[in-house]
Amino acid sequence: MLSLPSEPGLHRLCSPNDIPAIVVRGAATGPTLLVSAGVHGDEYEGVRAIFETVEELDPQALRGTLLTAPILNYPAHRAVERNHPADGGNLARQFPGRADGTPSERLAFAFDSEFLPHADFYLDLHSGGIRFAMPSMAGYETADPRGRAAAEAFGAPVIWGHPVIEPGRTISSARARGIPFLYTEARGAGRIHPDDLLMMRRGIVNLMKHLRMLDGRPEIPAPPLRLHGIGNTDEGVSATVDGFWMPSVSLLEPVRAGQPIGRIVSEIGEVLAIPEAPADGLVGLLRKLPPVSAGDVLLLVAAREEA
Ligand SMILES: [Zn+2]
Repeated sequence: MLSLPSEPGLHRLCSPNDIPAIVVRGAATGPTLLVSAGVHGDEYEGVRAIFETVEELDPQALRGTLLTAPILNYPAHRAVERNHPADGGNLARQFPGRADGTPSERLAFAFDSEFLPHADFYLDLHSGGIRFAMPSMAGYETADPRGRAAAEAFGAPVIWGHPVIEPGRTISSARARGIPFLYTEARGAGRIHPDDLLMMRRGIVNLMKHLRMLDGRPEIPAPPLRLHGIGNTDEGVSATVDGFWMPSVSLLEPVRAGQPIGRIVSEIGEVLAIPEAPADGLVGLLRKLPPVSAGDVLLLVAAREEA
């Protein structure tokens, strides 16, 4: 387990397994909020949100500890790749990992054993990355009222409740340890949209207010759009052929089952496939990167929560 500095203030360190960490220890005692970003190496909103939040946080005003892993998957981050460059593993499918496993399994194991045991609450900051666009949102497990309350307090424009948390995730490891959790998504595309940065920075502070680590009430800019469903990026509509992807729907647009969602064309523009929406709902994830290979996920449908 990572040993945390006891002095109040900002501390920059590296875990025994070389995971970069920034710790803000408050002057008063209180819970530990663990925040990670960069589980996928092509997602940057959360990284910057952590860097800026720790700089502005006053340790004298803080009760407890903000423990952060701003770039959890540093090898993937340096490679500008979603997955670990050494083995191609998706870190969000490796948890709880293995001490003697592949590089991505070892990284998962290190985070699970060094960081998670400290957490009273866990927040994992993701985004659409280079390939996908996703709504700016906070996701939680429907069955856990602690996660739902935190999602409401976070202040994201969309909150997405999941009936099932699939294995392998950082958050499934937190769940196995009984730690309440939340994760985020954002537009992605390799760029940091200012609204997404604001959402994540405000969200971390809101969460600390919610956990009574800071004084004040969470700042909620507007009532959120509420979605539910599994939201697994490994499922959904996939490309059946290699080609150039031209979507005809946009993020959060309502779609009907069987509705064409775009075209995949060849290098001379011949239509090779016209993928269809698998169900009624809203577009919850959309591939934006045009070159596709058979098997690549194109779109995911979310359902609007029943009132
Ligand atoms: Zn991600």
